[in-house]
Amino acid sequence: MAAEPPGAELSYPDLPEGVRRVLATIADAGHEVALVGGSVRDPLLGIRHGGDWDAATSAHPEQVSALFPDASWENRFGTVTIAGPPTVEVTSYRAEDGYRDRRRPDEVRFGVSLAEDLARRDFTVNAIAWVPEDLGTGAGSLQDPFGGRADLAARVLRTVGDPRARFEEDALRLVRAARFAGRFEMTIDPATEQAAIELAPSAATVSGERVRDELLRILQLDPKPSGALGILERLGILRVILPELAALRGVPQSKAIPGDALDHTLAAVDAAPPDARLVAMLHDIGKATTLRGGHFIGHDTVGAELAAGVLQRLRIPGATAARIVGAIRHHMYDYEPTWTDAAVRRFIRRTAHIDRRLLFDLRRADNAASGVGPIGEENQAQLEARIVEQLAGQPDLLMHRRLAIDGHDLQSELGMQPGPEIGAVLDRLTEAVLDDPSLNRREALLELARQR
Ligand code: ATP
Ligand code: MG
Repeated sequence: MAAEPPGAELSYPDLPEGVRRVLATIADAGHEVALVGGSVRDPLLGIRHGGDWDAATSAHPEQVSALFPDASWENRFGTVTIAGPPTVEVTSYRAEDGYRDRRRPDEVRFGVSLAEDLARRDFTVNAIAWVPEDLGTGAGSLQDPFGGRADLAARVLRTVGDPRARFEEDALRLVRAARFAGRFEMTIDPATEQAAIELAPSAATVSGERVRDELLRILQLDPKPSGALGILERLGILRVILPELAALRGVPQSKAIPGDALDHTLAAVDAAPPDARLVAMLHDIGKATTLRGGHFIGHDTVGAELAAGVLQRLRIPGATAARIVGAIRHHMYDYEPTWTDAAVRRFIRRTAHIDRRLLFDLRRADNAASGVGPIGEENQAQLEARIVEQLAGQPDLLMHRRLAIDGHDLQSELGMQPGPEIGAVLDRLTEAVLDDPSLNRREALLELARQR
């Protein structure tokens, strides 16, 4: 999109073909259609738009879904989602009235104008529409009734209309304010900031799912999430939606990089690849309550438990949550080149049931945020190489914990009775085999089992 003065014609020549087709289908059926949201805002900022594409139309949801038989749609809010890539979310022009529960409007009215539709949007920079005139060439013009372009140019985030009223309508906008201000390095207009601070406690009324979706967009779409997370803290929203994280403020740390446990955590989030940012954000939350005599006693275990609670509250799917909790539980390993091969095998066994890739991504981010220096990466790379080597040597035992004998053999050969003792003996044998893989033969193991 070329930068031109407000109100001018504006062309969008690099519109993706899939998006162009969706817009053309709606326009050809005789409806108004416009792009809105991030796909207009981001190019105006000179940023490539990474998320979904949002379109607004005068057509009613039934009419839109009739044009796209494969699309899924949510009747009440009038959003039709057309699978991509890229995904296009088509929303019927609507006005929203009421919001007694601070989540959902009491009433949605369709059949309003684009200008009215823009008025219900959260921030001025999100209330700019691009109206196509010729989809073949990408010619079109902007509708910007609330001065969104001027705010973009000045990097100011401001609600459309009275900030208090807008945050009272929907408290998720508090989190969104931090997301946009952080991502685009905007200052928050004083009236908007003041209202956000005053209404921060109302963020508690927002459902876990909605908070999750915004939080994941902060973590995954923002190259430097510490900005938005820091704004959430400054506005007093962090202690409402993530009290476990906010509690790290002021918890002292002694690392090469100065700062408290929250500073360290935010640096780790920035250093982590997108998929490891949630685990990085939660990896040290056990530190808030475990500091004793200069050490964080058991903060990995405590942190894993706390993280499980946070992830459940945020409705993170169980399998993903389990991977994150497992990585936090095991993140305090202390590899040294002096580890014996048996120690490496023990590490493999200890971490057999967790996502080691995620654990290692976390460790690298933790190292970067701790100022460990190149030795950290050397050790980490060496540990990974030694794991590959050990797994190649005895994949069976390590991966399936498979011994050459099992509980039945202990019963038939040694006359043992079923019960916990059998498990204890098998554990002892496994330990012995981790030390000396050559013992993993039937006779040798039975012999070992007899010695007690
Ligand atoms: P992104 O590029 O991250 O997707 P976005 O601005 O497109 O950012 P979306 O959540 O995709 O954000 O929403 C699309 C548009 O819908 C927003 O730009 C805004 O105009 C409007 N919108 C979304 N959520 C709200 C809300 N809770 N209150 C008011 N308007 C909203
Ligand atoms: Mg969007």
